[in-house]
Amino acid sequence: MIIVMGKNVTDVQIDVVVKKLEAAGLQANISRGIERIVIGAIGDERPLSEEMFTPLPGVESAMHVTKQYKIVSRESHMENTIIDISGVKLGGSQIQVVAGPCSVETQEQMDLSAQFVHEAGCSLMRGGAFKPRTSPYTFQGKGAEGLEIFRRAADKYKLPIVTELMDARQLDIFLKHDVDVIQIGTRNMQNFDLLKEVGRINIPVILKRGMSASISEWLMAAEYIAAGGNHNIIFCERGIRTFETYYRNVLDVTAIPVLKKETHLPVIVDPSHAGGKAWMVPALSQAAIAAGADGLLVEMHPNPCEAWCDADQALSPQALKDLMGTLGGIAQAIGRTL
Ligand code: PEP
Ligand code: MN
Repeated sequence: MIIVMGKNVTDVQIDVVVKKLEAAGLQANISRGIERIVIGAIGDERPLSEEMFTPLPGVESAMHVTKQYKIVSRESHMENTIIDISGVKLGGSQIQVVAGPCSVETQEQMDLSAQFVHEAGCSLMRGGAFKPRTSPYTFQGKGAEGLEIFRRAADKYKLPIVTELMDARQLDIFLKHDVDVIQIGTRNMQNFDLLKEVGRINIPVILKRGMSASISEWLMAAEYIAAGGNHNIIFCERGIRTFETYYRNVLDVTAIPVLKKETHLPVIVDPSHAGGKAWMVPALSQAAIAAGADGLLVEMHPNPCEAWCDADQALSPQALKDLMGTLGGIAQAIGRTL
């Protein structure tokens, strides 16, 4: 059972609901989002009925949600959620493209990247300062200095920034640099303590799919963030592991309509980490938009051959421009805009 509270709800009204749940032998999880406060019942729900809560002051609705994931489920919220990322709206009719290098390298590289992202018509910029590398002997990212470089480059074009958080201890530096979107990478999708930490703040979170995670595990991971009160969650399909070795991962296009059915939250696709080769990125991007994705997260480097990380999959600035030129028509065919 979840109880959705109305806009101007008071603490006293919340308390009445909590007490009522406790009297029935359950506990309450209060999830304080910006848009709505949702109280989740924890325990055996059989003694509960919706009518026990709907007449109470401050209660907007109460419903039994059959899914294990509650706040993120479409069952609990029918309309698409549109997330406002420093003025850029994701999840509505307009498709948004996040582009930029895999990792922050130098000020010059980031300045050029920001310029090319802007010129290609993308609305947000990506770049990793803390990198989750398979080998401890490869470049691990520029760290805090990288965030500074990134912020400086992106600010010139007013591009909101997307960057990966690997450890809750880095959260203060992320807040200090006003990171617009926190990315949780595939390797951390089930790092539950990290998910709880980003659940406590209100910065939008891109939650990448674990490389071997089922859709229900992914939805439950998002529920961890939502349960803490952060409802600004964006799902990102980035390819999964299969027996196929020809490409880096298999882009699970099927997951897009499934997620759009199961959750009201936006869904984006990372074609770069799926294919692992730049030449695959246009086809995968086009397929993702055609299948209903709300946006893309694409790697681009001013000089792909010299990228310090993921060089094979980085688009050149011209290739990004060309890709953007093909997406408008697809968006239009399905009633959306770019
Ligand atoms: C990335 O976006 O640079 C990244 C490391 O992605 P993933 O977590 O999907 O591998
Ligand atoms: Mn990468």
